[in-house]
Amino acid sequence: MELTNPRRGLLVILSSPSGAGKSTLARRLMDWDATLSFSVSATTRPPRPGEEHGREYYFHDKTAFQAMVADGAMLEHAHVFGNFYGSPMAPVEKAIEAGRDVLFDIDWQGAQQIRNSVLGLHTLSIFILPPSITELRRRLEARGQDDEETIAKRMQKSWDEISHWDGYDYVLVNDDLDATEAQLKTILTAERLRRAQQPGLKDHVRRLHQEFIEGQI
Ligand code: ADP
Ligand code: 5GP
Repeated sequence: MELTNPRRGLLVILSSPSGAGKSTLARRLMDWDATLSFSVSATTRPPRPGEEHGREYYFHDKTAFQAMVADGAMLEHAHVFGNFYGSPMAPVEKAIEAGRDVLFDIDWQGAQQIRNSVLGLHTLSIFILPPSITELRRRLEARGQDDEETIAKRMQKSWDEISHWDGYDYVLVNDDLDATEAQLKTILTAERLRRAQQPGLKDHVRRLHQEFIEGQI
């Protein structure tokens, strides 16, 4: 059957204090649905071992980053942990016009800017909380990615991020990873069915009406 009801792409934002599990959950969502497109951010922070330009981030110097902002090429941008981060606009526009959802792993400042942008109506924001602060620290240590000083910095910033939890559409406590993943999939599945996300509905109902009237004759 011909596709009667094309979808409009959603901007799906995941935020959390560092270590709560948003990158892990984002990866699981991407594995679950190959049509999801991940918004690769630009940043001025140096790459970590194993990170590749264009895969985890687009790594730029401050001058190049600021030029992109000045050119209006960023959907949102923010200063986080002493570096600039931003979401390039063009890939997002392309994906959502094609009916693909875009996943963002960004902080509360970026989430707020996107929510207040022209694309705000098509935004779904989800905040991930850790089950406890002790577990948050344990996860940062277990991840084995940062030295003690960086972990201390992330822990210090965690409350600032958590304090913005109430600006989000959904808030999940990521205790059991599989359970949180299932909740995320449920949310995304339901949100995709919102009327505003289904621009083809009007035509479909018009066709139903036509068929209904013809059936009466
Ligand atoms: P973030 O992207 O929010 O900084 P990560 O996704 O990198 O966090 O997760 C931090 C660490 O915690 C990783 O080692 C990850 O495997 C682990 N982790 C994530 N979610 C859970 C969970 N529900 N239970 C136990 N460990 C988790
Ligand atoms: P990291 O340096 O650990 O990869 O990311 C640090 C923080 O920056 C995380 O909270 C992450 O969500 C946030 N971040 C990453 N990319 C962007 C972005 O494009 N915009 C904003 N506002 N925050 C970002």
